Amino acid sequence: MAEKKKKAAAKKEVAKKVLKKTATKTSKKTKGEEKPKKKKRIPQTVRGMKDILPQDGKLWRHMRAVADSITNAYNFEFVETPIVEEALLFSRTIGRSTDIVSKEMYAFEDKDGSKLALRPEGTASIVRSYLNNGMLTLPQPVSMWYYGPMFRHERPQSGRYRQFHQFGCEIIGNKDAVADAQLIVMGYNFYKDLQIETNVLINSIGTPDDRERYIVELVGYLRSKRSYLSEESRKKISKNPLRILDSKDPQDQEVVAEAPQIIDWLSEKSKTYFMKVLEYLDELDIPYVLKPTLVRGLDYYTDTVFEFVDANNTVKGLGSLGGGGRYNLLIEQLGGEPTPASGMAVGLDRVALILKKKIEKGEFTPDTGKLKLYFAHLGEPAKRRALYLIEELRRAGIAVNHHLGKPSLKAQLEQANKAEVSHALILGQKEMQDDTIIIRDMSSGIQEMVDQKKIVREIEKLQKNM
Ligand code: AMP
Repeated sequence: MAEKKKKAAAKKEVAKKVLKKTATKTSKKTKGEEKPKKKKRIPQTVRGMKDILPQDGKLWRHMRAVADSITNAYNFEFVETPIVEEALLFSRTIGRSTDIVSKEMYAFEDKDGSKLALRPEGTASIVRSYLNNGMLTLPQPVSMWYYGPMFRHERPQSGRYRQFHQFGCEIIGNKDAVADAQLIVMGYNFYKDLQIETNVLINSIGTPDDRERYIVELVGYLRSKRSYLSEESRKKISKNPLRILDSKDPQDQEVVAEAPQIIDWLSEKSKTYFMKVLEYLDELDIPYVLKPTLVRGLDYYTDTVFEFVDANNTVKGLGSLGGGGRYNLLIEQLGGEPTPASGMAVGLDRVALILKKKIEKGEFTPDTGKLKLYFAHLGEPAKRRALYLIEELRRAGIAVNHHLGKPSLKAQLEQANKAEVSHALILGQKEMQDDTIIIRDMSSGIQEMVDQKKIVREIEKLQKNM
């Protein structure tokens, strides 16, 4: 017994010592922590890249919804390709001597040494996918659309970023001029649905043969005016003379104004083709402006090229809102069978800048549907029923805003007001007893009590009448 007591006392002594040690250690630590802490640098977004913030969320969803509805109406299928591709895909199609490939492409080596790139545009990837996945065996043409980020290492400024977003459409396997006209109409209607009036600038750059003959003439002319050109353009005379045509430098523009025009060098076939595109646009009442200096910066275009610009110049110096053209040679360039194709791409960041300006001026409201609901409840049983009813509405495709963690009905209704909903659904104790629910019109304050079982039908009725 005495032995046991001795052992217990020894254990206690050890425990005491341990406690003491930890106590001094902790107090030392606390003292140490009192010293001013070094503040960690919070990582920032990379230059030229930006967050799309919650306050702009509605706008971006709205643009996406319009893209969805336009492509649905014209029967285009959605595709998504990887952001990272083999660098070769772009150098072989867009062209090694273009600014996009030679200066702006985010190209890097993977761990195994393979040369990769962040995609600078969408068309080359879609065509690669068409070839990789044997889409040639599908009924032609294959009409596809995409939506997502693109990357170009450009000098950032308003409306020009290093990561930007494009919505684009491609028609592969249709050689008819009507395909070009349809893509122009789709782009035009995309902006129109967003209440942006655009001008369509259009030109034809013919076949590679036409272009070769024209380039000989153009280079001769540019050489004769060499001393009047900007330094940048002088370098381009032998490398990429066509790009001088769309130089923004006023010095170059004076020279370009007198330059030979590509339209005069088109073969009869290309001329007739171009006339057809214009006739279809006339038929569809799409206003266009012929722009002989429009060549676009990518090597893969043939015949039709076009761009969209904001007719009202809402945001100064924004540049083009979108563009596209026919690319009959691209599929062959990638190793496929000769296949005619054309496409267009819309730059969404510039559209967002215009829409934000319009929202500021009260000229535009992102439409996320006129009917907007908020579900307010009082008490635990009502919360459970609310969960069930919200699911039932969601299954019927009706979205409901709510904050089921907020116990106060008043606070919930305040939130409904802030969210600017059109109607609140209110489920209190009395309604729980009668299996009813209140639908309150938030602008007039008029309330209607309906059977909970009929909630979906009642909301659908409201939707129809709005
Ligand atoms: P592109 O393929 O260069 O003609 O680009 C099509 C559209 O994408 C342009 O009309 C712009 O609206 C948009 N875009 C191109 N580059 C940028 C960029 N660096 N930042 C923002 N938007 C861009």
